[in-house]
Amino acid sequence: MEKIIIKSSKRKEMIDITGVISRIIQKSGVKKGICFIFVPHTTCGITINENADPSVKQDILSFLCKIAPEDSRYTHTEGNSDAHIQSAITGQSLFVIIDEGNLQLGTWQGIFLCEFDGPRTRNVWIQIMDFRS
Ligand code: ZN
Repeated sequence: MEKIIIKSSKRKEMIDITGVISRIIQKSGVKKGICFIFVPHTTCGITINENADPSVKQDILSFLCKIAPEDSRYTHTEGNSDAHIQSAITGQSLFVIIDEGNLQLGTWQGIFLCEFDGPRTRNVWIQIMDFRS
């Protein structure tokens, strides 16, 4: 398993980690397989979405803040229930196909760490499964 560390700089942000994951796959030498990506946190998430127009990230974050606003009547006393709910919506893991040594993503797709309670230091765990034939 590979572990990477990502430092967020805002309370809410989506950080494109596609390049880091691609480099780990290239370094592994795996040509055909599956890349499993997991974030071991309860107030951040991971998702795939458009990495061309930055306004898409903005719209996703602002909509998640409408679903789970910061100042609602929550029972969790830590004051970050909005982040826990947004993390539950995005999820903590992804599978991406590896073929010819590269991540198989759509033209406009990128992999994003979704920070919902930053700034913090976040861990991302990556397990590459090698489908040697
Ligand atoms: Zn909490």
